[in-house]
Amino acid sequence: MKLTKEDNQLIKKAKEIIVKSRPVNLIDTGSVGAVLVTQKGNVFQGVSLGFYCGIGSCGEYQAIGNMISNGEKIIKTIVAVGYDEKTKKYEVIPPCGKCREMIHQLSKKNWNSEVIVSNSEKVKLKELLPYAWEGTIEKLGEIR
Ligand SMILES: [Zn+2]
Repeated sequence: MKLTKEDNQLIKKAKEIIVKSRPVNLIDTGSVGAVLVTQKGNVFQGVSLGFYCGIGSCGEYQAIGNMISNGEKIIKTIVAVGYDEKTKKYEVIPPCGKCREMIHQLSKKNWNSEVIVSNSEKVKLKELLPYAWEGTIEKLGEIR
């Protein structure tokens, strides 16, 4: 699917997260900014966290945690942008396997979440996780 004007605004916002978080300057913190829009139209964001001893998490984790903290779990659109210190370039990056699985487990409705995977394309989560495990946190009655 082609990106909309709103999708491009999400990409811009994800870049801004990286810029804002740079002064914290931990091991790997701030190299990925993630932004999501919920089914209700609310926007939540997060940044990757990297500490010593392998402690850390993806930017998507933080964005999803912020969403859950506000009582929501259905994602309309999500994007992550990475920053390469060597090339000084920002690049849209698809979510890692753990993030794909986490989005899926939140709700079967997220099977149709739009995931921006490049500067020009987005796909449904079900295209990124075609043979997903059925263990969502919901019991019955949701669409697939
Ligand atoms: Zn991830």
